[in-house]
Amino acid sequence: MRILTINSGSSSIKVGLYEMGEKERLVLSGSIQRIGIKAGIFQISDSNKKTIIDKHIDIPDHDTALKLLFNWLKQYDPGSNLDAVAHRVVHGGKKYSTPQRITPAVLSDLKQIIHLAPDHLPHEIKAIQATSYYYPDMIQVACFDTAFHRQMPQLAKIVALPRHYQHSGVIRYGFHGLSYEYILQELRKEAGDEVADGRIIIAHLGNGASMAAIRHGKSMDTTMGFTPAGGLVMSTRSGDLDPGILVYLIEEQGLRPSALNELINHQAGLLGVSGISSDMRDLLDKEDSEIHAREAVELFCYQASKHLGALAAVLGGVETLVFSAGIGENSSVIRQRICQNLAFLGIHVDPERNSANASIISPEKATVSVRVMKTDEDLMMARHTNTLIKGE
Ligand code: ADP
Repeated sequence: MRILTINSGSSSIKVGLYEMGEKERLVLSGSIQRIGIKAGIFQISDSNKKTIIDKHIDIPDHDTALKLLFNWLKQYDPGSNLDAVAHRVVHGGKKYSTPQRITPAVLSDLKQIIHLAPDHLPHEIKAIQATSYYYPDMIQVACFDTAFHRQMPQLAKIVALPRHYQHSGVIRYGFHGLSYEYILQELRKEAGDEVADGRIIIAHLGNGASMAAIRHGKSMDTTMGFTPAGGLVMSTRSGDLDPGILVYLIEEQGLRPSALNELINHQAGLLGVSGISSDMRDLLDKEDSEIHAREAVELFCYQASKHLGALAAVLGGVETLVFSAGIGENSSVIRQRICQNLAFLGIHVDPERNSANASIISPEKATVSVRVMKTDEDLMMARHTNTLIKGE
């Protein structure tokens, strides 16, 4: 089975072409970057990372980007050996707790919940519509970032506002679900059922960052909530804020809704606190000379550590802690700093294993197994789509 995965963001579209047979194989991967910004880039490489296409052209909008992609794909694969297209969809609202074959009814549901993810859903819907245009009979599947968390206990989902807000959809949804599902599947393969069904905290620390508390393979709570702006300090998102701050910003500082959205999603987090960069590597490079870079990194670790403690309380203890995504997979310094005050939970990090990015970085006989695992949300989408089609 050949599955194309599409991950359509605000200024980029990432694609992967997977062969899902006995073995899973990434045949092609690529991206279209800087959509709507000058000097766009269209890149595709093969399974050996050999560049097949590397075009530098202005790409004014998503329609142009999708046309570029599908025209190229049709030329590259004229017989259309594609069996399905999997779309990453940030939000499935209250209704969707599993991946869905996209039908006119599903598409209409997605249009109804655009207000829940106005920065993401319109681009994802465009990608679905473009796929239908270029490949009219293609099977398309929506893989939701919220789906994994839909079964969270009621108390983890409700927020302390009057009931009618809950009925209109103001609840905690949680995100990064595809990443958590992938890590869980890999953990089950690597460490067995007993570990995968135990008390697990996964820290997905990339530009977007969140943690999830998992028990018996199910999400029990997570740091992101109604939107992906909540929870941990992120590259440009604030994470949790006292709600009174928002009222103050509107009433006293005169911020309009669009400016507030820009502030909490694009100007806050590591970028806001450091005033230098949203990129963790840049900040680690500068933390000895720039006090605000150091404070941003310290705040990131402090908040991560604090949330980790809260999630351990949700689970009544922790047996496995997994670090993943750009920062979690690569930065031994950040992992060490997050864990340094967590010995009371049984969390210890072995310095040598940690600096070697070993798959298990806790000491031999530690009660909590601390792991580093590479996540792969695109492959998870291909797996979901493969399973869904085979089950039909
Ligand atoms: P996204 O959420 O956009 O997929 P990634 O998972 O790629 O992001 O994570 C990007 C973050 O990972 C950036 O802040 C980057 O600096 C950080 N990162 C990548 N490698 C390292 C490293 N070796 N040390 C510290 N941070 C790193």
